[in-house]
Amino acid sequence: MDKALAQKVIDRLNSAKSPALFTHLRPDGDAFGCLLGLAHALQERGQSPTLHAEGGMIPMYKFLPGSELVQDIPDQLSSQSDLFVVLDTSTRERVGKKTIDWKPSVDIVIDHHISNPGFGILNLIVPEIPATAGILYRLFEMAGWKISPATATCLYAGLSTDTGSFRYRGTDAQTLRIAASLVEFGADPSEIAKHCYLSVTPQRYHLKKLTIETLSLKDDKKSGFLTIYPDFYSKSGAKSEDTEGIIEEVTSIQGLEVASLFEFSPDGGLRVSLRSKGRVDVNSIASSFGGGGHRAAAGIRFPKDGEKNRDLVLTAISQAIARLEN
Ligand code: AMP
Ligand code: MN
Ligand code: MN
Repeated sequence: MDKALAQKVIDRLNSAKSPALFTHLRPDGDAFGCLLGLAHALQERGQSPTLHAEGGMIPMYKFLPGSELVQDIPDQLSSQSDLFVVLDTSTRERVGKKTIDWKPSVDIVIDHHISNPGFGILNLIVPEIPATAGILYRLFEMAGWKISPATATCLYAGLSTDTGSFRYRGTDAQTLRIAASLVEFGADPSEIAKHCYLSVTPQRYHLKKLTIETLSLKDDKKSGFLTIYPDFYSKSGAKSEDTEGIIEEVTSIQGLEVASLFEFSPDGGLRVSLRSKGRVDVNSIASSFGGGGHRAAAGIRFPKDGEKNRDLVLTAISQAIARLEN
């Protein structure tokens, strides 16, 4: 982590009174963990942050301390806000369409996506830490800010969920050291795991079952894809956030290199999730279609032509796998 840059971020955060904190569309555990972890740290310092995520808080992460503070994305940046901070978000578009033309522009971006172009005034982008929550931990440590059990719980949840419970490739000694420190500051690993991994609703489970039944293996069983059709939601009663984690079921297949999940929206759009076991760089595939992410986990959104774009992405995956063999 660039110490001089991190210090500038700390100084800028210190100078605010009412910072507005934002994260990415379809927020995940790292997104909520970062919003709330940073909010607790700022509140300890007498600030009054506002927290925003698309759709507000989702039931799965309601156990996080302070979860009631999370609000939906407003129509305008509040005139009270004296700092515009974006966490865990790889592009300006992923903060949300209606925020694009907001003035003033983003002051601080804190993120770990390698594809992040740096769309803020200060951009603390640290791809070697596998969750933005881990970057926040290092920042608080450097600043000498108090890490309360509430802060530690939120950051640990972000770090745990973004590393697939400390299983993905980016999990290194530093990740585990950060996790250990967060436990010392009051995070409870088994309690957090209970909420993040062992609290699947029957609706979510039903959606998972319907989706897994669509599995198709190709490229000599080196790639596999799942499809979510719009009626799966009415059939299962699940919500859009309930798709999180389904793709990992495919990644677990022995010998597989790339897993993909295609979610068709009722208006013909398509959301794509890509996962690699490490040999194929799915970030470069996603980037070639205007998406992004990391080497082993990336995504794309197509506003239209879902079927056609699915075929194009599947072809790109086949080509990447063929290149491995040459
Ligand atoms: P997901 O498959 O939605 O869990 O996303 C996997 C990773 O790719 C996450 O780190 C996302 O932040 C990133 N990502 C997903 N969709 C997009 C997109 N449309 N543009 C850029 N990055 C994305
Ligand atoms: Mn995230
Ligand atoms: Mn993240």
